[in-house]
Amino acid sequence: MFDEIHEECGVFGAYRLKDAAALTYYGLHSLQHRGQEASGIAVCNDHVIEVIKGKGLTIDVFNKQKLELLKGDCAIGHVRYSTAGGQEYQNIQPIAATGPLGEIAVVHNGQIVNDLELRRQLEEEGCIFQGTSDSEIILHLINQESGDLLERAMKTARKLVGAYSILIMQDDHLIAFRDRHGLRPLSYTRDRDGYLISSETCAFEIMGIYDSITIAPGELVEFKKGLAKAYQYIDPKECSSNMCGMEYIYFARPDSVIEGQNVHSVRKETGRQLARKDQDLNADIVIGVPDSSLSAAMGYAEEADIPLETGLVKNRFVTRTFIQPTQSMRDRGVRMKLSPIPSVVKDKSVVMIDDSIVRGTTSRRIVKLIREAGAKEVHVRIASPVIQWPCFYGVDTSTRKELIGANLSVDEICEYIGADSLKFLETDEVRQAACPVGLCMACFDGKYCTSLFSHQKSLDEDLADV
Ligand code: SF4
Repeated sequence: MFDEIHEECGVFGAYRLKDAAALTYYGLHSLQHRGQEASGIAVCNDHVIEVIKGKGLTIDVFNKQKLELLKGDCAIGHVRYSTAGGQEYQNIQPIAATGPLGEIAVVHNGQIVNDLELRRQLEEEGCIFQGTSDSEIILHLINQESGDLLERAMKTARKLVGAYSILIMQDDHLIAFRDRHGLRPLSYTRDRDGYLISSETCAFEIMGIYDSITIAPGELVEFKKGLAKAYQYIDPKECSSNMCGMEYIYFARPDSVIEGQNVHSVRKETGRQLARKDQDLNADIVIGVPDSSLSAAMGYAEEADIPLETGLVKNRFVTRTFIQPTQSMRDRGVRMKLSPIPSVVKDKSVVMIDDSIVRGTTSRRIVKLIREAGAKEVHVRIASPVIQWPCFYGVDTSTRKELIGANLSVDEICEYIGADSLKFLETDEVRQAACPVGLCMACFDGKYCTSLFSHQKSLDEDLADV
């Protein structure tokens, strides 16, 4: 069991650009933090869609020869971490199929919550599903609707409930849209005579492009005949701003800009908020748990005027396929992911900033590491509220039974992780840090912005279990 939260996916597209597959490869490489389980690219060339995809990191799935096979100036790509649907090959995206308009390919980041209802309806209409992912529903809906690609995409978008940032490709025609609550990020930018579309702007920045446009909640952008045209596919009154708070807290890269707010700056502000709650704490140093907590640690240190130190070092090459140390290796003290720097923490009162606590086992291990390295006191500060609810919008959190925050008080969590003191942020404090962007905070406060359809049942069972 992982004591971490996993993002589900990242999407990238290149429209009317030479070497579209190579650009998509580099884009996906920048989005790799959003999913390491599988990667895929589809290109369209003369009405024919070619797809190459496989399990593993983008650099493992693709090589120069494979990229050279993907000819065409329109491409979409995907990096995956699976929650909805299993890890089977059929669930790896892009998913492509032939329908009334010819070949179509789709990539999706998020989670459709009315998936079972839509799937049942489509199966009754005769659709045959190849895999188990909710993303295949989108492809079937597009093929079942009437009209041209734009009309079909709009009708499909209106039927979906949940979190979705989606790219659809057919011929020299690309469509991108976001759900009406704006739960997952999606932006596009001009590049020479074409366009790039990405889950995160960090993928544009590696190409030297720093300006981008956010696709708004309930908005669809059509890339056709060399132009980008935006449509509101649903009444703005039915739309809201509910960007996943965890994107700012944990998932997104600090160099990304989401809805106009730089992720690093928001994280830094959460650190400042934590420091303002600590007027009486006389600590010697502040350390952040690498990598996602470093910005918040910087904000805390600046606000509290306490030196920021590198107290923990992360081995960046411990991936999902890494052979974890056995119990006997762990007993020998083999710790692969994080190492403390004893000369930094020895005899110090340490403020340790982390982004979140899921099951508590990782925090407990890190506090122990810092103490073993000689720290006098370890005060843990979490740059998010207490996670108490599961996510149904494309993030692999846990059931309430497994979430320490749903079962123990803050004092009890403090005791469990072995810290001298523990504080979290409140939801309003995170909202303030990301302001003016409206945030989904459902995994902290249980206020889901959509009906959960059949997933409500699993939530009810989960509640009965706690
Ligand atoms: S429930 Fe939590 S993880 Fe899921 S979208 Fe909302 S803020 Fe993000």
